[in-house]
Amino acid sequence: MPQRKTKRGAERTPLAPDADVLICGASFAGLAVARELRDFGARVLMVDRYEIGERQTSACAAPTEWLEALGLRDSIRQTFSDLVIHTPHATMRYRLPWTFSTFDYSELCGLLHAQNDVEFETAKVDGRTGFTVHTDRGDVTAPLIVDALGWRRVLGGGYQPPDAPLSRGLEVHPWRADGDLEIWIDRRYVPAGYGWSFPARDEVRIGVGSFDPRFHVRDTTVLLAEDLGADAVRYQGNWIPHELRDATEDGVFFAGDSAGHCLPLTAEGIRTALYFGIACGRELRAVLHGERTREEALRRYHDFSAEHEAKYRWMLRAQRLVPRVPPRLLTPAIRAMGAKRFVDWSFDHYLRIAPPPAAAEARPAPEPLRAAA
Ligand SMILES: Cc1cc2nc3c(=O)[nH]c(=O)nc-3n(C[C@H](O)[C@H](O)[C@H](O)COP(=O)(O)OP(=O)(O)OC[C@H]3O[C@@H](n4cnc5c(N)ncnc54)[C@H](O)[C@@H]3O)c2cc1C
Repeated sequence: MPQRKTKRGAERTPLAPDADVLICGASFAGLAVARELRDFGARVLMVDRYEIGERQTSACAAPTEWLEALGLRDSIRQTFSDLVIHTPHATMRYRLPWTFSTFDYSELCGLLHAQNDVEFETAKVDGRTGFTVHTDRGDVTAPLIVDALGWRRVLGGGYQPPDAPLSRGLEVHPWRADGDLEIWIDRRYVPAGYGWSFPARDEVRIGVGSFDPRFHVRDTTVLLAEDLGADAVRYQGNWIPHELRDATEDGVFFAGDSAGHCLPLTAEGIRTALYFGIACGRELRAVLHGERTREEALRRYHDFSAEHEAKYRWMLRAQRLVPRVPPRLLTPAIRAMGAKRFVDWSFDHYLRIAPPPAAAEARPAPEPLRAAA
């Protein structure tokens, strides 16, 4: 069981009642927003129900270039140049044009948090009335509010699973140190979705993700672990949004899973949470600078997120298509897609949905991000 470090009892004093910026959620998206707001002299409060890095929220694999651009190299556990894909009838090894790395969640969050100067408190966010956010440690009012709370979108219109565009993912983390970055597209594990095994130096993250929220992935996660000769221990799972949503609502900014920024088909949501978190943070910075009004920042951030809609729609179409391909056609299709030129082309396009240069060191004057063409 993870150790709960969150403040208890007498430590849970009421929060200060106001702030210039309130960031709700201190995982990838929230920490990326906070990073853009350092050295401003503004009162920025960030809250999360857990301590920073306390509860891992993913298998923690991301493009290495992104981690390096944000100064997070020390959290990397393993780097992979190849992706191995298994179908029921074949195994293919793809040489990628760029690398993926697995990292330690707690260390990465610690490194990101060290790059901001915001005030952090543990508190559970319960909801909002206008610009006042209700928490279990009292109300906080702020003119600039960010919801980086994940798929529940607590400060906006939330989703109720399973009747929502959500995938579900569950993984186990046996202690073991070997293997490749591997994916299984196999109905034995999940009718629509995929299984994975991501080694991270001294542990392996083995899991199953289902695009259909009604398919329960626990039994097949155990089955995949058994097939790999690994123990089904140390579970971690969650819902994963697979549809882009409005990145602003009723005066509030949404970043990461709360805005559906996780990519359909691959369920890669760390890079995009960082990417849109940075974009959101830069808009907030411009407001604090006095260069834009809140309404202008809301509109610009909303439009920036919406510019990516076509790419998200394509990924969602592919997510719906892949499970419909008969297994006997899947193997030749995946084999054909293994041609080096195709792999380079498709993975480069895929990376450009949220390209690493966007993570470059923030400049003193607010610099809006531009969506890659
Ligand atoms: C099993 C699994 C494996 C995955 N593997 C990968 C992967 O390898 N690579 C990848 O790119 N993506 C992966 N994803 C997707 C990825 O985890 C998410 O897209 C990503 O975590 C989104 O980041 P976020 O900051 O928006 O939200 P989250 O990481 O979910 O963070 C939300 C934060 O808000 C806090 N919070 C939530 N509710 C409240 C509340 N009411 N009050 C206070 N605090 C609250 C939480 O404690 C948390 O810190 C995986 C998802 C799952 C479920």
